[in-house]
Amino acid sequence: MQKDVQLTVVGKVFKPNKQKVLALNRCLNEYFKPVRWYLDFNSTSKIFLHSNRYKEAKRKFKLNTALIQTARDKAIETLKSFKENRKEKSVLWLKQISIRFDRRSYSFSKTTNALTPYWLTLSLNKREKVSLPIMFGEKQRLRIEEAFRSEWQFTTVEMVKREGVWYTHLVLKRTIKVEDSPETVIAIDRGERSLAVAVAILKSDQNKPVKGQFWRGSEIKKIRGLYNHIRRRLGEKKLLKKIKALKGKEKRKVNQQLHIIANQIVSYAMQFPKPIIVMEKLNEIRRNFNKSKNLNRRFHSLPFRKLQTYLEYKANLKGIAVRYVEAKDTSRTCHRCGHVAQVKGRAFKCQKCGMLYNRDLNACVNIAHALMRGMGWGSVIPLNSQVRLNAKSLS
Ligand SMILES: [Zn+2]
Repeated sequence: MQKDVQLTVVGKVFKPNKQKVLALNRCLNEYFKPVRWYLDFNSTSKIFLHSNRYKEAKRKFKLNTALIQTARDKAIETLKSFKENRKEKSVLWLKQISIRFDRRSYSFSKTTNALTPYWLTLSLNKREKVSLPIMFGEKQRLRIEEAFRSEWQFTTVEMVKREGVWYTHLVLKRTIKVEDSPETVIAIDRGERSLAVAVAILKSDQNKPVKGQFWRGSEIKKIRGLYNHIRRRLGEKKLLKKIKALKGKEKRKVNQQLHIIANQIVSYAMQFPKPIIVMEKLNEIRRNFNKSKNLNRRFHSLPFRKLQTYLEYKANLKGIAVRYVEAKDTSRTCHRCGHVAQVKGRAFKCQKCGMLYNRDLNACVNIAHALMRGMGWGSVIPLNSQVRLNAKSLS
C-alpha cells in the first residue's frame, strides 16, 4: 500500500528590496479579493465553484489563473474549517496573511551564490515576476537538499507575511510504501497518569499482549509547571506581551518533547516484526476526561492529539501504517471476556472472569482488538477455536 507524506519547510525571504516587498504586498491584497468573492457563494464544492464561477473570476481579477484557483481552494478550506468548528467560532474570520502558489506559478532553484543559494521565483500576475533569495535553518536546509535529490516532490508554496516579514512555506511530498500485511499490532493510548501507553500483540500469539510500555511525559509536566509558575508571577504585573512570548516558548519546548516521545514510540514499534500502529479516534473523549478530578486537569490537557499527528507522520516515513479505530468503553471493558466493568483505581479487576490487569494496558489491548477484528485476525473468536487458529498461523 502506498501513502503520501507531506512536510512543510519554512524559509525566510532574505533582505528583499523595497520593490519586491511592495509587489508581494500588492499581490496579497489582490489575492484576497477572489478568496472573499468565492466565500460569498458559501459553497465547499470545487466542482460547483469551478463550473459556475471560474470564467467570471478570470475576467474579474488581475491575477494568474493558477492563483485564482488556489484562492478558490483557500476559500473552500476556510469555509470547511469554519463549519466544522462552528460551536467555538461564531464569526468567520479570514486570516489574510498568505498567498498560495502551485507548481505552475513558481520555480525554486539552487544557484552558486554562496550566501543565499536558494532562489524562489513567483509569477504574481500575467506580467509580473519576482525572484527572492531564501534563507533556511540547518534542519530545513537538509530537507530542501533532499528535495533537490528528488527524495521529495515540490508541491505548493505558501508565501506568509508575519509582522511585516515575508516567509516561504514550501510543501514537500513523498510517496511511502507502507506495510499492508502486518504481523504485529501496536496499540497506543493515553494513560490515566501517562502521556502514552503502548502494548504489542503478535499475530503468531494473539492471546498474549507483550511489552507494555509507559511514557510518563514527566518532562512536559515539568515544562508546564515551570511556565505556569512564571506566568502567575508575571500575571500580577499584567505584562501581556511577555506572557504571550512565554506561551510561544513553552509550546516549542513541549513540541520538542512530543517529537522525542513520538520517535521513541516508533522505535518501540520497530522492534517487532511488520508492525502496524492503532490508536483511538479522538473526538469527545477529551471533554469527558475533563469532567474528572481537578487533580488530573493539567495533565489531561497534555497534547495527545499533537502526539498522534507526529507519530503518524514519523511512523509512515518508516513504512509503518497508522490506523484509527472508533472505540467505545475501551477503559471499562475486560479485554478477555468483554464484560463492561466499574473501574476504580489503577488496576482493572473483572468482576465476571476475575482478570486482574493494569488499567491502561487493558484499554490498549481493547484498541488493538478493535483493529484485529477489522483485519480478520483470530482474537475475537471464542477461546477454543482461537487456539486452533493460532496453531495454523504458526505452521
Ligand atoms: Zn473479564
